[in-house]
Amino acid sequence: SVVTRFAPSPTGFLHIGGARTALFNWLYARHHGGQFRLRIEDTDRKRSTPEAIEAILDGLQWLGLEWDDEVVYQSARAERHAELARSLLESGHAYHCYASQEELEQMRQLARTEGRPMRYDGRWRDRDPAEAPEGVDPVVRLKAPTEGETVIEDEVQGSVRVANDQLDDMVLLRADGSPTYMLSVVVDDHDMGITHVIRGDDHLTNAFRQTQLYRALGWEVPRFAHIPLIHGPDGAKLSKRHGALGVETYRDMGYLPEALRNYLLRLGWGHGDEEIISTEQAIAWFDLPAVGRSASRFDFQKLEHLNAHYLREAEDARLVDLIVERFEEEVGETERQRLLAGMAGLKPRARTLVELAELAHFYVAQRPLTYNAKAEKLLGAERAPELLSALRDHLAGLPDWSEAAIEQAVRAQAEAQAVKLGAVAQPLRAALAGSNVSPGIFEVAAVLGREEALGRIDDAIT
Ligand code: GLU
Repeated sequence: SVVTRFAPSPTGFLHIGGARTALFNWLYARHHGGQFRLRIEDTDRKRSTPEAIEAILDGLQWLGLEWDDEVVYQSARAERHAELARSLLESGHAYHCYASQEELEQMRQLARTEGRPMRYDGRWRDRDPAEAPEGVDPVVRLKAPTEGETVIEDEVQGSVRVANDQLDDMVLLRADGSPTYMLSVVVDDHDMGITHVIRGDDHLTNAFRQTQLYRALGWEVPRFAHIPLIHGPDGAKLSKRHGALGVETYRDMGYLPEALRNYLLRLGWGHGDEEIISTEQAIAWFDLPAVGRSASRFDFQKLEHLNAHYLREAEDARLVDLIVERFEEEVGETERQRLLAGMAGLKPRARTLVELAELAHFYVAQRPLTYNAKAEKLLGAERAPELLSALRDHLAGLPDWSEAAIEQAVRAQAEAQAVKLGAVAQPLRAALAGSNVSPGIFEVAAVLGREEALGRIDDAIT
């Protein structure tokens, strides 16, 4: 059965590219009823931080990409990695190399003059270990094939091949006995039972050496799927300005996890023309052949559009909880009830939770409100105080405080004063919402309740 994994290095936050890699692995596993595992590649002790690990775990949890089984920390497995290097020495698939820094530097210089990447020339490959210099700690290198080619049948990139004489004998254990990244990845993927390695195509060239290592160890090579990176809207490498931000930044900017999930899914994968794809549909449809081969472009507008959709779909009570944490003031029970009652009118008007909170703020604001400039202007209009005050008396006497009754009262007032509806309704909006934009004003008045609405009108005319 299928086992995938996400293997971030905790040297930064869970950025958008990593989140998409995690999502694809998660979807692939869920689609096949398999497992999705998490491995933290924290072998670079200097650059790995506990904060980064926290941010990765939080980010995955927020996105709803729950992993199976325990988290594997690569640094805890160094002894196991070294053990396999030793077994390769015993089976004759690896050897000790005593080449000095000077010798390696000469090889590097030769490569430079020939204009090719540096390749270790294999000088210790078949040499008698009895010739080993005194007091030098050797590295362990893989005895890689020198003829033929290494081929990867990549699920996204297709057949990719390299001539083996282009690859040198990679280091498995450093002179201090610590395992290299290449060895650690292969051993961990094998031990975790990984069947499918889905990751960014910046790792494609590593897959050749990893394949050689699997073969030397006598292990089955997993399926590889190298997905193209995400670029900015202009096709250049994704930068901060373009959206190369941590997942928590998207949360702070007011995106819902399901919107980001849908967006990331569409970034490099498609199912016909579908734009809005629920998580259940994504699990049912996700596959690797439909992953595109060219870099996808990040587009904030599409993300906003999707977010607006998911805001409209979201449960009112959940949205109330999500915006309440964004207000500076404590939100009491009365205000919370208003938000809940008003949410149906608020949510279609916002693209992010930030906008939603801004739009909803007047429901929780305490009297007297602060008015925005346009509201000031509406309230400063010549007849506004007079119209509002007549309306106030009318509203105070309504037998029933309902949206329909309020609407009738406002219309009747406009007619009685021989003005357009807006001449009454707009100052009313300014008085109740402190702004020139709000959900339908009759609804707003109904949600606020009679006492609060009349109080706000009083504040506006005195
Ligand atoms: N730790 C690597 C990274 O964060 C991923 C390695 C892999 O997926 O094989 O780029």
